[in-house]
Amino acid sequence: MQSRIERLCVERGLKMTGQRRVIARVLSDAADHPDVEELYRLAAALDSRISIATVYRTVRLLEEKGILERRDFGGGRARYEPTEHGQHHHLIDVETGRVIEFGDAEHEQLIRAIAARLGFDLVSHRLELFGRRVVPAEARPRPAPEPRPRTAARARQAEPDAAPAAAPAAPAAAS
Ligand SMILES: [Zn+2]
Repeated sequence: MQSRIERLCVERGLKMTGQRRVIARVLSDAADHPDVEELYRLAAALDSRISIATVYRTVRLLEEKGILERRDFGGGRARYEPTEHGQHHHLIDVETGRVIEFGDAEHEQLIRAIAARLGFDLVSHRLELFGRRVVPAEARPRPAPEPRPRTAARARQAEPDAAPAAAPAAPAAAS
């Protein structure tokens, strides 16, 4: 059975070799936004003759054909997802690397208005948010009492020479 990506490849006139078919299947099955290494690992598990160079070449070809879209979520590695996935944006959890997809009609309107104000019709845009998850107070691990640093901070404040700007570090800064 043809995978979704394979069907798109055929529709766009790509010759499908056995290896390309395997890579297309892996891409079709990928739930997240895999990078080349991950695609290679999955593809090589299905066909050990597939090299990472082949995966690179195939992914680039599919990108040229508009079947795949390249994403950059930081970390220096390009990630890929099928274009057919539709217009959406990403929020990247900077601590776990988890990627959350979202859409927002209000934001689309605003972006369109900005483009119009600059004299343009919006063709496309990307939005990548990088964030740290807010942990509700009741779920936060209770910090163990740390009498020593507090005393130190207080002692520093009490010193007449201490600069008033040297405020003790907020406990929220400790992640
Ligand atoms: Zn996505």
